[in-house]
Amino acid sequence: MYIVGLTGGIGSGKTAASDYLASLGIDVVDADVVAREIVAIGQPALAAISQHFGPSVLHADGSLNRAALRAIVFDSPSERKALEAITHPAIRLGIQQQLAASVSPYTLLVSPLLFESGQYQFAQRNVVIDASEDLQRQRASQRDGVSAEQISSIIAAQLPRTERTKRADDIVINHGDLADLYQQLDELHQKYLQLSQQC
Ligand code: ATP
Repeated sequence: MYIVGLTGGIGSGKTAASDYLASLGIDVVDADVVAREIVAIGQPALAAISQHFGPSVLHADGSLNRAALRAIVFDSPSERKALEAITHPAIRLGIQQQLAASVSPYTLLVSPLLFESGQYQFAQRNVVIDASEDLQRQRASQRDGVSAEQISSIIAAQLPRTERTKRADDIVINHGDLADLYQQLDELHQKYLQLSQQC
């Protein structure tokens, strides 16, 4: 099993890149999707969360009330730790299971916090999608309509750009148009196919 971790800051183009590689037949495991799945109704992590934090963190239909939970952990490091002690092992397990179910020559593990969370350890190789902060802000706000302040606080919570690229095996500079992004990805795709055959 050959796993390529893919990361990048907010609005850098992770989804554009992983959607393109998926269109070439590569299975994609998305850490954000796994993080949502493990707290779906019926999942053990959700039961553990409601046991620890009480019924106020659930909506009437039994689903997770993210806003209520965020409010509890926002300025309580110990409660945040308690939450992470529940969710992190469940996310790791979910990622492991989805990676094991992949059938493509290599598998992409997409995570905005690949390095920060330690998830890079799942991968044999890590690629960073890199864009200037100006472009990140422009693309993220065009896509989501989120405020400049929200984007700034997300950028502040993520690894600085230079740290991220320092830790990359491969870097895709996403400063051009989509055709330029895809061309760089075509080259990396060929490289990953070769590397996956060697292992
Ligand atoms: P987030 O971390 O916020 O989920 P992301 O890294 O997944 O962001 P994308 O959603 O892929 O980023 O890209 C942000 C926006 O910029 C999207 O609307 C996407 O279509 C657009 N975009 C990405 N790369 C390019 C490009 N090279 N040319 C034009 N638009 C682009």
